[in-house]
Amino acid sequence: MNKTIAVLAGDGIGPEVMEQTIRVLNTIEKKFNHQFEVLQGLIGGSAYDKFGTHFPEATKFICQRSHAILFGSVGGPVNESHHEKWKNCEKNSILSLRKEFQFSSNIRPAKVYAELKDICPLKDSIIKNGIDIVIVRELLGDIYFGEHRTYIENQLRKAIDTAEYDEKQIEIVAHQSFKLALMRKNKVTSVDKANVLDTSKLWREVLTEIGKQYPTVTLEHMLVDNCAMQFFINPCQFDVIVTANLFGDILSDAAAAFPGSLGLMPSASFNEKGFGLFEPSGGSAPDIAGKNIANPIAQIMSLAMLLRQSFELIEEASCIENAVQKALQAGYRTCDISANKTETVTTEEMTNRIIEFI
Ligand code: NAD
Repeated sequence: MNKTIAVLAGDGIGPEVMEQTIRVLNTIEKKFNHQFEVLQGLIGGSAYDKFGTHFPEATKFICQRSHAILFGSVGGPVNESHHEKWKNCEKNSILSLRKEFQFSSNIRPAKVYAELKDICPLKDSIIKNGIDIVIVRELLGDIYFGEHRTYIENQLRKAIDTAEYDEKQIEIVAHQSFKLALMRKNKVTSVDKANVLDTSKLWREVLTEIGKQYPTVTLEHMLVDNCAMQFFINPCQFDVIVTANLFGDILSDAAAAFPGSLGLMPSASFNEKGFGLFEPSGGSAPDIAGKNIANPIAQIMSLAMLLRQSFELIEEASCIENAVQKALQAGYRTCDISANKTETVTTEEMTNRIIEFI
């Protein structure tokens, strides 16, 4: 297969973990006889240094020419966010990318590896054999995009935020969720607040209609308040969760606590045409940048998601995922996932082990 990938490493640990991920990509390329053209572009603070903007035209052009985007992370130390270089860096980079490519959904897996149960905040009796959830969050509708207004009425300050959805927006994420479930355990849980909200009633109706096109997938509906509780009493029941923008924002951050480190968590965003951006869920981790100690797994698993979901290279993606699992089973740990913090491996060593298992 011949494909072009835009690689935007960004700032902080981004370039370190991306360099290692490209080694993994090259290994897969050789093993499976593919040709991947990698086009590197600057984004975030590193782009600001060269072009005076966080999202230069040259980077946009690289993304437009590519079949998928592999993104690292952007931003500087939180206490330096007032500096010109870092001011609105994340917003200018990520939001510009979202806007440019109209990414309408965000997909975040939250997996607890059996080998890493000790760093999951939940009890063993709740984790059982591991948690493996994927949350699909709608990104372009809901209360974030409706009318926002603050005003005074009867001498009282009032504010209003309006939630809006049309059926087309819901259909897009519904199809994505059912297709994802077909590649997993064939179950979709649609989360809403249909006992109160009209947007949720429409959400439920559309999910039910689209679900009929996927007869082998079980669809269940759950109210968001119950779902939040189920996360902590029975998280193993979930396979794919699909939900609106606001609920997804909150639930995906709650689920981010399960794996025990941001260094393990990949994510993806897609537009209506299926074009995708793949990135770690965490940020640029300035506290550990430049030390060769960041966990490369989130970036490497983002590559696995890219291969599976953008290029349909299922065997190649599974090969990476199995290699990561084997490296963990063999006991290799970067600092963030080491319970005793003594015997740890560097970013590069962890990648070496993963490459050996590939
Ligand atoms: P962060 O996610 O960068 O770091 C939070 C904690 O997680 C830190 O202790 C960090 O060391 C750790 N961590 C994250 N990734 C890790 C990895 N791969 N291996 C080991 N440990 C890891 O969040 P923050 O410190 O609040 O933000 C730092 C910068 O990142 C800010 O400028 C913020 O705006 C930016 N940010 C960018 C993105 C993005 O690029 N998509 C997302 C979130 C935050």
